[in-house]
Amino acid sequence: MEPTSEKKLRKVVYLTFPPEASNKPVVCDLARVYGLAFSILKAQITPRHEGQMTIELSGPAEAYEAGMGYLREQGIGVVPAAQRISRDEESCIHCGVCTALCPTKALALNIETRRVEFDDEACSACGMCTKVCPVAAMDVQLENGAM
Ligand code: SF4
Ligand code: SF4
Repeated sequence: MEPTSEKKLRKVVYLTFPPEASNKPVVCDLARVYGLAFSILKAQITPRHEGQMTIELSGPAEAYEAGMGYLREQGIGVVPAAQRISRDEESCIHCGVCTALCPTKALALNIETRRVEFDDEACSACGMCTKVCPVAAMDVQLENGAM
């Protein structure tokens, strides 16, 4: 029998920093204190002003939950990027144009069904698909030019 392993997560989250939190090194604490690996995908942070950041996190599920709790305690808004991305299933014509550009393979062609599937958990909210989709089926909602 295989040993049980701790559940690992990989998530993209969208953070909003109130002015009083914009100069705190809270994101570094996710690695230092909670042992999460992170990669900043997009950031617009100015000291003493509200800021936004999109980061990709990976690590054990428990550490992820604890780290998100810590961010919220600091007054930081935490929204999984997946909640800000949607596809209008009625509009999508499964042309496949977006699959060539999607950096995380969140949009991928299912060879068997010949349909393009959207995995919102894998989406990094980069916005590339919205620029090429001929029928504007992809909707990425991030505020203040953060995408
Ligand atoms: S580019 Fe638009 S219409 Fe084409 S597969 Fe992607 S989401 Fe669907
Ligand atoms: S926004 Fe579109 S192109 Fe970017 S990761 Fe998400 S599905 Fe892929």
